[in-house]
Amino acid sequence: MPQPSELSIISLPAMQELVRSLGFPAFRAQQILDWRNKGMLDPLNMPNVPKNVRQAVADVVGKPPLTLVKREYSRDGTRKYLFALREGGHVETVMIPERKRITLCISSQVGCVLDCPFCFTGRQKFERNLSAEEIVAQLWMVTADLLQEPVGHSIADHPTHIVYMGMGEPLANEEGLHGSLAFFLAEDELHISRRRITVSTSGLLPQITRLGNLYPVNLAISLHAANNAKRDVLVPINKKHPLEELRHVLDAYPLPEQRYITLEYVMLAGVNDQNEDLKALVHFVRAKREFVNLIHFNPHPGSDYTATPKDAMDEFATRLISRGMRATVRRSRGDDIMAACGQLNALMNQENTDGDNEDA
Ligand code: SAH
Ligand code: SF4
Repeated sequence: MPQPSELSIISLPAMQELVRSLGFPAFRAQQILDWRNKGMLDPLNMPNVPKNVRQAVADVVGKPPLTLVKREYSRDGTRKYLFALREGGHVETVMIPERKRITLCISSQVGCVLDCPFCFTGRQKFERNLSAEEIVAQLWMVTADLLQEPVGHSIADHPTHIVYMGMGEPLANEEGLHGSLAFFLAEDELHISRRRITVSTSGLLPQITRLGNLYPVNLAISLHAANNAKRDVLVPINKKHPLEELRHVLDAYPLPEQRYITLEYVMLAGVNDQNEDLKALVHFVRAKREFVNLIHFNPHPGSDYTATPKDAMDEFATRLISRGMRATVRRSRGDDIMAACGQLNALMNQENTDGDNEDA
């Protein structure tokens, strides 16, 4: 449950109670949250709030949980942010603008323990889980940035969609994940319904079931191989939760009408893009409830894998479709600033910020 001192995730009634307990009229709460909803996380900077109120509230809520350290722009409009956490460590957040929507790719942990060999975050030392406050604060920080510097080619002026596809495994941090989802879904002003939120997981099964029971948001599974021998290597959590068990859990996941579970499949040349891989995939996928999202492998320093060429990916997709599957090829965004899926690694960026620009 949110603590009253956490401005990023406090509700209006809780803020009213806080303001009243400090001896001020309740309407100040709405004023403060109006600023918070514009991304202002330091009460001391809230212009139309009297100074004594600002100070008293700031004394309770403390300093903002995130500080912007670095912002990078991709030629496609994607922005990558590096934030320092008040409680220590760094995380990255990515903002992906399209014509009608702005998607926020948020982080749930500093590093990741799960060690998928093709993923850059997995190579970073796991430090800790993010709190719900730190997860939600990523939204506020980007909201503030967008107000200051809107994206030219999008009619949206704030994040409209949220994907838990940044650093970390969200289902390994249920407290932060559930706390942040509870907030996103309760705040009507955000207009972020469960259809606009996607949680991506490498496949922590009991946690998927709990997510479906509590917050049945869109689910994306990092499948990457549809036979156990290959998936044991690519997604090592498969050794604990193999495909047969994953199958049962996916079949039970609650899906609204016309919605699908996404099966993410990063295409690695010569590794999981062969005929036998296609066959295994066709065998595994339930076309009525699931679709396959083929992802271009994004290289990063030191990676041993190479991407399946674009033509071969299209061909793979066509062959899946001809066998009755739904399949799409995901366009990579922000890859020129290392902001694409699987490229996030705050440690690396922090080093760069510190002036260490030598190639790793
Ligand atoms: N831990 C979660 C969410 C973060 S990763 C998960 O694994 O699902 C988000 C997606 O990026 C996952 O599908 C992941 O497998 C994929 N990914 C990781 N490294 C990648 C890379 N180098 N290129 C493309 N996709 C990658
Ligand atoms: Fe962790 Fe996901 Fe990367 Fe695997 S792909 S190491 S689960 S962040």
